[in-house]
Amino acid sequence: MTPHYDVIIVGGRPAGSTLAARLGRQGLHVMMLERAEFPSLPAASSPIIFAPAMQLLDEIGAPEADYARATPRITRMAIHRNDFQTTYDFPITKGRNYAYAIDRARFDAALWDHALGFPTVEGRLNTSVTDLLWEGDRVIGVVAKEGKGPEEHLTADLVIGADGRFSVVARKTEARVIDEHQEEPTTLYYAYWKNVQPYDDHGPLSVAYEGGPGFGLLVMDSADGTAAITLEGRADLVDPAPGQAEALYLDLIQRQPDIARRIQGAERVTPVQGMKRIGNLYRQPGGPGWALVGDAYHQHDPLDGQGIFNALFTAKSLAWAIHYWRSGEKDWPAALEWYDETARIKTYGMFRATLQNVRQNIYADNTQMPEWALTSLRWMMEDDSMRDLMGKLMTRQVPPEVMSVMMPGVMAGALLRGPLRDLRKRLAG
Ligand SMILES: Cc1cc2nc3c(=O)[nH]c(=O)nc-3n(C[C@H](O)[C@H](O)[C@H](O)COP(=O)(O)OP(=O)(O)OC[C@H]3O[C@@H](n4cnc5c(N)ncnc54)[C@H](O)[C@@H]3O)c2cc1C
Repeated sequence: MTPHYDVIIVGGRPAGSTLAARLGRQGLHVMMLERAEFPSLPAASSPIIFAPAMQLLDEIGAPEADYARATPRITRMAIHRNDFQTTYDFPITKGRNYAYAIDRARFDAALWDHALGFPTVEGRLNTSVTDLLWEGDRVIGVVAKEGKGPEEHLTADLVIGADGRFSVVARKTEARVIDEHQEEPTTLYYAYWKNVQPYDDHGPLSVAYEGGPGFGLLVMDSADGTAAITLEGRADLVDPAPGQAEALYLDLIQRQPDIARRIQGAERVTPVQGMKRIGNLYRQPGGPGWALVGDAYHQHDPLDGQGIFNALFTAKSLAWAIHYWRSGEKDWPAALEWYDETARIKTYGMFRATLQNVRQNIYADNTQMPEWALTSLRWMMEDDSMRDLMGKLMTRQVPPEVMSVMMPGVMAGALLRGPLRDLRKRLAG
């Protein structure tokens, strides 16, 4: 007998497991199939999540005490350029004024376990989907393999690809790629370290360091007393030969004097992992008998740390679309169209803003700025209104479209207040 489910989900990290939980709440029989064993780190991800992502997890009852166990709350961010440093607090978003640099292995395992807490949700680890089953042009199931075991057939009313950037479901269905941007690709490497010296005496934080031409660095206080140190740069510059990624990572992070100071006596506790030429695109949301969610559907440069939010939000939208379809409120094509539209409304503005951010912060050579431009930049970074607006963008309280309308006024105010602040500092000695 071929086992049959309402929904089969391929991939069980943030998109797959939270979609399973939402469908489990609808009482659907769901099977999650995940190639990896948990807990394990995903192929590539640095770890920052902001309050809006946690709010989506609240909606499905995922316990923060589990997914963020032993992880410090990061309530502030520092910008560290060699010519000036500034720190700002994260604004409160729905009661939370903090982010986490989560341990992704712990986070993903906690969400998987949470999904399995719903009585109609099942999951199998160490199980790869190698192919899809078809009836005409409709997907009706998957071919799966547990470890080195035999191939098995499983069928479902719907097969979902929550299987990340290199989605097998997208490949087998030949899902169309939409809105792809390869103009300014980036490459990112990261590792977790122990015994990293604190940045200052005011508790955990995330520090964005000026790196060098074409790359930046981020140090985030993470779980169990570790810190995640991330390097992101232009794909053509951060382009190690095979086997040289670790050497390049270590070389570039140590060129930043404050990071070199902080890692003296520190120990790296994970391998250097990362991804070259990170994609920026949307895919067709689905077709007969199938749909894509999370990174399989939409990939976004990691510079602004929005990927996990996008995975959780697209899972929520798809769960609603499935509800409309199953309740007869919409047929499947209309449900898919609604899903795509809802997901894009929430993700597209940020997608464009991040691409712009990549252009300005990674591709433009800010290390050669003239003195007047550096001073203006410092005035803006030290200005409370400017920092508040940036924090609100990062935590999605201000959509990017609104940000671009507000920005000229806030910038003008910052440039007026900057010289006065400098004067006051000079007078105060
Ligand atoms: C370098 C880098 C840094 C990032 N940093 C951040 C950050 O700081 N903050 C942030 O919010 N986001 C970040 N992101 C993005 C974030 O990691 C992703 O958006 C998020 O993991 C997407 O979740 P997902 O569930 O869609 O896919 P994934 O997390 O990729 O999970 C897909 C799962 O599918 C499984 N799978 C794949 N193929 C099969 C198969 N055939 N059969 C069975 N299982 C399969 C895989 O084993 C995997 O576990 C980063 C991404 C990259 C590349």
